Amino acid sequence: MPLEPPALPPEITVFERGWLSANNVLFHGHGATVLVDSGYCAHAAQTVALVESGLQGRPLDRLLNTHLHSDHCGGNAALQARWPRLITHIPPGQWDQVQAWDPVALSYEPTGQDCPRFRADGRLMPGSEVALGGSAWQVHAAPGHDPHAVLLFEPRARVLISGDALWENGFGVVFPELDGAHAFADVGATLDLIEQLDPLTVIPGHGSVFGGVPAAIARARRRLAGCLAPGEAGELAFDHAADAGELGHQAGVGLLQFAHARAAVKALRHARAKFAHGRRR
Ligand SMILES: [Zn+2]
Repeated sequence: MPLEPPALPPEITVFERGWLSANNVLFHGHGATVLVDSGYCAHAAQTVALVESGLQGRPLDRLLNTHLHSDHCGGNAALQARWPRLITHIPPGQWDQVQAWDPVALSYEPTGQDCPRFRADGRLMPGSEVALGGSAWQVHAAPGHDPHAVLLFEPRARVLISGDALWENGFGVVFPELDGAHAFADVGATLDLIEQLDPLTVIPGHGSVFGGVPAAIARARRRLAGCLAPGEAGELAFDHAADAGELGHQAGVGLLQFAHARAAVKALRHARAKFAHGRRR
């Protein structure tokens, strides 16, 4: 039987969401109120309602995103509309694409997903700290599932907000065609980082809060070893997408999403190259 994870500090509420929305982590203790990740846009009204109920009349002051996949930032626009003074911080890697609002480079158009345009006010810099709920949380780069992702770690209570870098049974889908074998090496390096941080409790992007982190890391490493087996990388990634369905999500939706993404990878790579070329000029 899996061990119960240690209780979270009382100023943290996790809204565990259904597919396709990522979980939302609300800090409602002393200091500024903060939400980490905002779910998919189809559930944005529910996200706003959950946050409103959690804040009990207080405004939402800050919004952070672990990465900019549409299931993690699709509620940003609705939250910004509800609380116009909301300050939004994103990982630095896609700052320019958000400022210019390029839905192709941001992967929304090629993956057939919607993400209403939102405003970014600041960068969540790896190596820095952010004050969340009266504690200092470290920001770490967490490439692999997404090359620009960050994770957040609070070293006293040893709580990790992992995004899609580590789930209880694996990690978010990696698209090898998109980022090359490099992406899998990055997944491994990010697992090494999490092992060093040694969290007691993980708040993942999808699924329940969990403890027993060494065992979860071992499961993720086994999955990664499967992805790294020679040849057939695409098929293995497809298996991996099927595994993501195990999480209790509707596997059909996950696979459909994956198929969309796979078909559009070329377009996305092309768009990225074009974007990089445009920036050099
Ligand atoms: Zn993701």
